[in-house]
Amino acid sequence: MRDETQRVYEHVLKTDPDQKEFQQAVYTFLQSIDKIIDELPEVSYHKILERMTEPERMIMFRVPWIDDSGRVQINRGYRIEMSSAIGPYKGGLRFHPSVNLSIMKFLAFEQVFKNSLTGLPMGGGKGGSDFNPKGKSDAEVMRFCQSFMTELCRHIGPDTDVPAGDIGVGGREIGYLFGQYKRIRNEFTGVLTGKGMDFGGSNIRPEATGYGLVYLSDAILRGKGMELNGKTCLVSGSGNVAQYTVEKLNALGAKVVTLSDSSGMIYDEAGITPEKLGYVMTLKNVKRGRIKEYAEKYNGVTYIPRNPDEPNPVWNIKADYAFPCATQNEILKADAENLVRNGVKLVGEGANMPCSVEAENILMGNGVLLAPAKAANAGGVAVSGLEMAQNSARMSWSRERVDQELQNIMNNIYRNISEAAETYSEKDNYVDGANIAGFMKVSRAMIAQGYV
Ligand code: NDP
Repeated sequence: MRDETQRVYEHVLKTDPDQKEFQQAVYTFLQSIDKIIDELPEVSYHKILERMTEPERMIMFRVPWIDDSGRVQINRGYRIEMSSAIGPYKGGLRFHPSVNLSIMKFLAFEQVFKNSLTGLPMGGGKGGSDFNPKGKSDAEVMRFCQSFMTELCRHIGPDTDVPAGDIGVGGREIGYLFGQYKRIRNEFTGVLTGKGMDFGGSNIRPEATGYGLVYLSDAILRGKGMELNGKTCLVSGSGNVAQYTVEKLNALGAKVVTLSDSSGMIYDEAGITPEKLGYVMTLKNVKRGRIKEYAEKYNGVTYIPRNPDEPNPVWNIKADYAFPCATQNEILKADAENLVRNGVKLVGEGANMPCSVEAENILMGNGVLLAPAKAANAGGVAVSGLEMAQNSARMSWSRERVDQELQNIMNNIYRNISEAAETYSEKDNYVDGANIAGFMKVSRAMIAQGYV
């Protein structure tokens, strides 16, 4: 890296020595910006990179709640308000035991550039808690959400900061969070997105991240004279993003043969048909069961338990395309080597930062098309932006209209990242394309607004 970018990276290493995920996200980003930094003296002059890597505000708070046996439980809550350069802070809430400051900051950092790519006026933020909703009753989840929002509500608002869902935060949690916000503030506003359709939600919001991932991947493939129809796909995870990725892949004629959760994976050579996907949706969203049960229900399905010390078996199956939709760093060096050996031609990142730096280099070095998360999973926040627009206008748009808007946004993102890749890096380097295209707009807005 050049002196300028190296200095910024070293500063991050020194200031936040234990924040590995944040460091990784900054490193990948700076590697792309390194290619244009010499042509942008104003970026150095105004210390844009230094400011971008320092959150505007970090909020951490205690979340006390009472479990079903009457015991007091304590979790930690977070909201990272990373950048309001191009709009109110916007980004999801994650409830997962692994949540810490480093994970929150990496997610908030990436969100800034992702939101910029959508073309909508949204800044970047992220939040959540180390609370684990798994195995908790509805009443416990509600009490936790109410306590979490009791503090969070003083920091957010429809023109200030608009959270949404992420891992462990789906329709149920958003409903409880919204209810408590409304009760405390006595305001019915679009302060959260991903709301139920009966109280201000948008059509296609649950589907948006998965659908958008497939739309963008399809655009990349078509640009190369390739297609989804008739092709075999690997999908990891079995939550919101994975489910709607499978739905859209099926609709476009592809066959999906895997799904997973943190306990293990299923391999269904015959393909996860719409009927089987319906079973998965009930299993995961209503019964809150495990993916293992899929292998017990359907014949000819293999279940492989997860061993965190071994390569992830999802990426060790012959296929055309792969869609990581579970979590960060789920594709490491050995997994990337397996994907290359198995003939995978495209990796579409549904999850945020699913590839380690080494894995990314192996994939791209071997000609695998990489659709980076900042672009590929931007459909979720894009439709969240459309939900905000509908809330402000007190309107509700049809499924067809929102789906069309989503397709337009994903096609625009494809054009922008391809053009930026070709202009500033190499053709097909969508990682550089997304980082540079996302960066340019935020950087211009920051320069225009002075030192804030
Ligand atoms: P969900 O909670 O609905 O599903 C997450 C899935 O990933 C579950 O199957 C879960 O398994 C699995 N998973 C979670 N953590 C781990 C882990 N540490 N190791 C292995 N498997 C894990 O979340 P989403 O589908 O909403 O999110 C998935 C990814 O997509 C995340 O990276 C998120 O940041 C990203 N994303 C989500 C968006 C959205 O709109 N929801 C928007 C943009 C990105 P288990 O049930 O065992 O925990």
